[in-house]
Amino acid sequence: MKKLFKEVRLDDIITDILVNNDRIEKISPKISRADADVFEANGMIVLPSFANSHTHAAMTLLRGYADDLDLFDWLSNYIWPLEAKLTEDDVYWGTRLACIEMIKCGTTCFNDMYWHSKATAKAVGDAGIRAVISQVFIDHNDPNNVQKQIDSAENFFSENQDSKRVKFALGPHSIYTVSQESLTWIAKYAQEKKKLIHIHVAETQKEVQDCQAKYGMTPIEYLHSLGLLQPYSLLAHCVWLTENDVKLIAQAGASVLHNPVSNLKLASGFFPLKLLKKHGVRIAIGTDGASSNNNLSSLEEMKFAALLPKYIEMDPKLYPAQEVFRDASLSGFQAMQIDAGLIQEGKLADFILLKNENFLLTPNYNTISNLVYSADSSSIDTVVCNGQIVMNRGQVADESLIINKVNEIKNKLTNKRGNNV
Ligand SMILES: [Zn+2]
Repeated sequence: MKKLFKEVRLDDIITDILVNNDRIEKISPKISRADADVFEANGMIVLPSFANSHTHAAMTLLRGYADDLDLFDWLSNYIWPLEAKLTEDDVYWGTRLACIEMIKCGTTCFNDMYWHSKATAKAVGDAGIRAVISQVFIDHNDPNNVQKQIDSAENFFSENQDSKRVKFALGPHSIYTVSQESLTWIAKYAQEKKKLIHIHVAETQKEVQDCQAKYGMTPIEYLHSLGLLQPYSLLAHCVWLTENDVKLIAQAGASVLHNPVSNLKLASGFFPLKLLKKHGVRIAIGTDGASSNNNLSSLEEMKFAALLPKYIEMDPKLYPAQEVFRDASLSGFQAMQIDAGLIQEGKLADFILLKNENFLLTPNYNTISNLVYSADSSSIDTVVCNGQIVMNRGQVADESLIINKVNEIKNKLTNKRGNNV
């Protein structure tokens, strides 16, 4: 199936893009193909879509449920008890809501870690976008849980194969919820099966202090000692790093997933961008879950990512818009080993078209600057993922249905708790 996007503006030149199934086949002015569906872009600017590098998509269900708390209090006393009540169906609808939100913000791919990963995969499939979906691995350092968790992970991967838009990954939650034995198994299994590993690490000062006390190592040194630093490792947060940690990450070719809004909201600490850049570590920007953000907008996340290091280091030249945009798009796709993030022949057809008339993009001296510092979802007209239009001139399928379903789930969860939240 072919689609012809007529008269897009690519690098300030008006051209056509011919998409064949999932890939960009040809970029050239005045392509004429009778066998293709035509989309008249009328000079709209085309850019790669975003790859949201760290999410817990179905946490849209908990958006605004508990805010302004310490991380451990927030997780243990509010989030985990409510999450325990979520069904597979709840996760499906929560993820559909997350997909609507991400599509509207120009995101076509996300790296997720959440319970009921099959429901997440179904939601991603139905929404028409892509995801790397981690099978959550938590054994609470209880030896009785280790083999059970390993068996369940092995079963999961033998029963669930990757598809064109969904890749399954290993999701050890963190070094404080997963035992040394399990982490060692995960490192080996990931290497053998070429699976991505998605883990929260060095997120808080407490995590570092506890790790030092227990193992005499930083969390990154600990992961390194277990073989868990690999090119396939996706390290969420990485707020508390030493220079040696950064060198270890760089040597391994692992990716750091930067979540500026979540780090600010939970007051986790200052992301060491300057140090990571110095050692050439790949940084991919992500929103984290909707209850620690509270939205999934890659546009908003880019602005925070750009502003935070400038403020901390008192250096406005640090992390220019062009680099921030790359890290919200191409770097995320690269981290997830997905061949998108560039508008080039042969690449996967994931891209966005910006509105021709939008007050946040006017005047347009510099599109990327406008996108990072000014734009919001109203600036995006159309979104294409895997060669298919998933937002057509502002319209995404099933939006009202999904909003109504999530409202029903909120009412159900509230009643189960027997009080009003
Ligand atoms: Zn997270």
